[in-house]
Amino acid sequence: MGEENLEAQAIVVGAGPAGLMAAHKLAKEGLEVIVVERGQYPGAKNLSGLLYSTVISEAVPDFPSKAPLERPVCKRAMGLLAPQSFTLLSFGSSKWSVPPHNHTWVVYRAQFDRWLASQVEEAGGTILEGTVVEELFCEEKGSTTKVSGVRIRGEEEPFRAPVVILAEGAVGLVTERARSRLKMRSGEKPQSYGLGIKEIWALPASTIEDRFGLDPGCGAAMEWVGSPFQGLVGGGFLYTGKESLALGLIVKLESMTKAKVSPQDLMEGFKANPEIRRYLKGGELLEYGAHLIPEGGPRAVGQLSQHGLLIVGDAAGLVNASMYHEGANLAMLSGRLAAEAVIQAHLLGDFSRESLSLYDRMLKESFLMEDLSRLKNIERAHMVFPRLMAELPSRFANLLVDLFEQAPVPKREIRKHAFQRALDGLPKLQTLLDLWKMRGMLG
Ligand SMILES: Cc1cc2nc3c(=O)[nH]c(=O)nc-3n(C[C@H](O)[C@H](O)[C@H](O)COP(=O)(O)OP(=O)(O)OC[C@H]3O[C@@H](n4cnc5c(N)ncnc54)[C@H](O)[C@@H]3O)c2cc1C
Repeated sequence: MGEENLEAQAIVVGAGPAGLMAAHKLAKEGLEVIVVERGQYPGAKNLSGLLYSTVISEAVPDFPSKAPLERPVCKRAMGLLAPQSFTLLSFGSSKWSVPPHNHTWVVYRAQFDRWLASQVEEAGGTILEGTVVEELFCEEKGSTTKVSGVRIRGEEEPFRAPVVILAEGAVGLVTERARSRLKMRSGEKPQSYGLGIKEIWALPASTIEDRFGLDPGCGAAMEWVGSPFQGLVGGGFLYTGKESLALGLIVKLESMTKAKVSPQDLMEGFKANPEIRRYLKGGELLEYGAHLIPEGGPRAVGQLSQHGLLIVGDAAGLVNASMYHEGANLAMLSGRLAAEAVIQAHLLGDFSRESLSLYDRMLKESFLMEDLSRLKNIERAHMVFPRLMAELPSRFANLLVDLFEQAPVPKREIRKHAFQRALDGLPKLQTLLDLWKMRGMLG
């Protein structure tokens, strides 16, 4: 975009999944939309690994044959780690293993976001890379403050549009300032964050397939709790790329500070576990990154629309921080719904809060808010999670190992001893109560 043309019908701040999906919908509708991205290219600093495909498959039905995807997830596993033992529940379906693989994919965001941005451009949208939005440009109309564009670092004149979609991700400074300047209602609870760390390890495709027991081209996604995450809210993950593994952790910041552990120590502890180490053996560390994730649940979500403004994705706190850790798919859904509200506002020529709050209504009726509302007791679940994870993973893993103990005694005695050891000193009532409270994390 040149200096002579500083206007659009909508401006989107941030080219992550939320902003790009909003822009894609607007551009397809024929609206002139500009996405402003501070990174050198979309996805340059983004990290997530699993792409749930419900929203992208609506926008680009043939995405599996077009997008740069790593592997379809044909196998999932949930594991409990103890220092000397582990339990792994592995599951899958033949439906996941057959083309067109419209289920879940391992993706690297640096490639995926760039591709999504190319779809926006193909539809007629403009992406401004390496460009930082400093703040919103607002105008006063009587007693009302209305967002009318953005101010770009290094530019004197504002970029103008009747509506701005803020999609700048977690802890967005523009969003924070906008909330206070436009007196937008905060959530009932302050937002809280998880820290996500991810490493990419290079390994040959055949080694990956052997180690994870996969058919050629198929992928796996594993989630792990237990050691070294005892006393913390969070766990680790391991996903298979084409010729790489994505290994990482997501841990609630507060719990890490409380336990006085550093993210580096946790990551090293995770990799040092014999069960994890064997997947990485012979691999080469290629990349490392860290990012915050909103984990406050529905009560931390505040007002999301104002005159000339909508907030989407992580910037709005719309992450399902349950065991699904679903952020990118929900970001895309909120982006699409925001775009639908903007299209309607253009038809009516009305960009007031009342008109744009169509977005809030659509969000409320979507599966996103239904899922998020199930996390209303997430703080309670987070309180008991460390206690349970300190006890259960090693007891359970040891129980299974003990049940298969070889000794010259009747099996009845082996079982008795195994259960005695597993239950010894366990506060049973407390544990049952904690397990009940944990349902608040199921989403
Ligand atoms: C380690 C890790 C693993 C994860 N795993 C998964 C997973 O497996 N599946 C899943 O669904 N989700 C996962 N997530 C969450 C997911 O990454 C986010 O929910 C998702 O990226 C949110 O999308 P978004 O578009 O709202 O924000 P982002 O993806 O953060 O994009 C925001 C964009 O805005 C740009 N920006 C910010 N400020 C400005 C500014 N002032 N001016 C211009 N541009 C700006 C940023 O550069 C960025 O490109 C994971 C997160 C982490 C950290």
